[in-house]
Amino acid sequence: MAKKYEGVAIGIDLGTTYSCVGVWQEQNDRVEIIHNDQGNKTTPSCVAFTNSQRLIGDAAKNQASSNPTNTVFDAKRLIGRKYSDSAIQNDILLWPFKVIAGANDKPTIIVNYKGKEKHLVAEEISAMILTQMREIAGAFLESPVKNAVITVPAYFNDSQRRATKDAGDIAGLNVMRIINEPTAAALAYGLQKRANCVEERNIFIFDLGGGTFDVSLVTIKNNNFEVKATAGDTHLGGEDFDNRLVNHFVKEFKRKNKHDISGNAKALRKLKTACEKAKRTLSYDTEATIDIDSIFKSIDLYSSITRAKFEQLNQDLFEKCMETVKSCLADAKMDKSSVDDVVLVGGSSRIPKVKQLLQEFFKGKELCKSINPDEAVAYGAAIQAALLSDSIKSVPNMILKDVTPLSLGVEINGDLMDVVIPRNTSIPVKKTNTYYTMKDDQCSVPIKVYEGERIRASDNNLLGLFSFSVPPAPKGHIPIKESFAIDSDGILTVSAEEETSGNKKNITITNENGRMSREEIERMIQEAEYFKAQDMKFKEKVKARNALDDYLYNVRKVMKDDCVSSKLVPVDKAKINSAMIKGKSLIDDYKNEETYMFVDFLKELERVFESAMNKINKGYSDEESD
Ligand code: AMP
Repeated sequence: MAKKYEGVAIGIDLGTTYSCVGVWQEQNDRVEIIHNDQGNKTTPSCVAFTNSQRLIGDAAKNQASSNPTNTVFDAKRLIGRKYSDSAIQNDILLWPFKVIAGANDKPTIIVNYKGKEKHLVAEEISAMILTQMREIAGAFLESPVKNAVITVPAYFNDSQRRATKDAGDIAGLNVMRIINEPTAAALAYGLQKRANCVEERNIFIFDLGGGTFDVSLVTIKNNNFEVKATAGDTHLGGEDFDNRLVNHFVKEFKRKNKHDISGNAKALRKLKTACEKAKRTLSYDTEATIDIDSIFKSIDLYSSITRAKFEQLNQDLFEKCMETVKSCLADAKMDKSSVDDVVLVGGSSRIPKVKQLLQEFFKGKELCKSINPDEAVAYGAAIQAALLSDSIKSVPNMILKDVTPLSLGVEINGDLMDVVIPRNTSIPVKKTNTYYTMKDDQCSVPIKVYEGERIRASDNNLLGLFSFSVPPAPKGHIPIKESFAIDSDGILTVSAEEETSGNKKNITITNENGRMSREEIERMIQEAEYFKAQDMKFKEKVKARNALDDYLYNVRKVMKDDCVSSKLVPVDKAKINSAMIKGKSLIDDYKNEETYMFVDFLKELERVFESAMNKINKGYSDEESD
């Protein structure tokens, strides 16, 4: 029986390029995808730091070209990975912000905030985006939100899942569950097609987003959602298609102008924005233009690209997507003809070539277009959040059975991977294997836990390592039971036990593979509070500055009125004029001033102006009474 949570619960699709939040609405019996303060239902997963403030979402993205080195995006590509990972090394070449190797090979982002260098990890950036999504929901619901279901790509490994959960903790969220993006999309599909799901239906979810790609085969029957298999690539998506276009235009620019712009952060950021726009255009048009004034040394970049060229530049990536589709069906042991519906999720699933390849593969089958590819994941996450929430009664009871995307096992006999839980096993699951000592009088057994599909253990991802003490005995006489348990979030716990001597020992792997310790998370929660306090301080300052600006505007209007200004006592007039000059300089230099300066000065100005006006009014009333 799943744990139930008190209070409002939201679903967050934490995307590579855009994030989206939804909530189940009891009164309407459906999920509401919540728009942000700009009126958009998706918010850029982007955080920027300036000399005066921190910006998140649209505000951060809108200033990216003028502040490229301090505008951070793609945190999802970094999360739970090592700096030395070749995928990260390739990305770093195209990111305008700086990433270095931190402790334990953890990628660390360097930005300049309020004139000081600040080091941040991907979890902190993701936490900032999660906080923003939580605030968007809080503003809509008019109450603070604590509980959330967060989605991750199905193919995220253990450390990427744990790191996402840590990001939720740093954001002060109570992460009810981490669910897989395609599974969330299947829930959304299932709810919308509720009436048709009495018969068993095999749904193929094709989820191609900004930075990750997932496919899942889900069987739905009587509100039971069973994932049969999942496959994917946590480093493939719209960003890669954009990067291919960027490289194409960098080469073209070099050829035409003899300048290499590949090392220029500002030029690259401008080009990337233009390429993403062109890519979207190519989804409905056969040609797109790129117009960037003064991209480098006052030289303009005016060019165009055809859909055919875009497809050629990305052909291998599109083919890679289709290979993943085949491997998922093979894992599910299902022929493509048994698939009832193919559901498209993620912004990049709008690319015509992708749709064409998919339709050809499924022998001309119509692709399901009834669910919104940008919102389906958040929609499903909101359903799952409602299912876990005690206070929500109206959501249909849907039962979800997901799978683990990667095999989990231990190293045996000199670098061999012994699989304990094969990939695509339904979760939650617990499995136990028994191993024996390899040497006479062995007093400790090293246990190395890996994740991956390679035969050689060291080719896989090392999740954790611990040493287990055993009593001396001849080789093969001491059995050690090693248990692997995966919870509903897809997160693994490993324990070992040895019973021969009557001793029971239980060791759990925690905090391996660069995962943050509780202390580090606590420190980051404090930092997040610091950022929040700074943001609030800045907002208050802007509010105080605007109040002064408004007042000055009105005073200026009154002073321009000859009827009034001619009646002012000269000394009052001089006082008001000098206050207006001081006020204007405060407004112009507001970034360097403190909030109290505006508040105090406004009070002073009000006092001077109102006293002068009182004198005039008194004059008027004296005249009237004469
Ligand atoms: P998601 O992670 O699902 O929000 O997907 C975001 C990605 O979808 C980004 O790389 C966008 O550039 C891409 N995208 C959104 N709309 C389109 C479109 N019409 N054609 C091609 N790509 C798109």
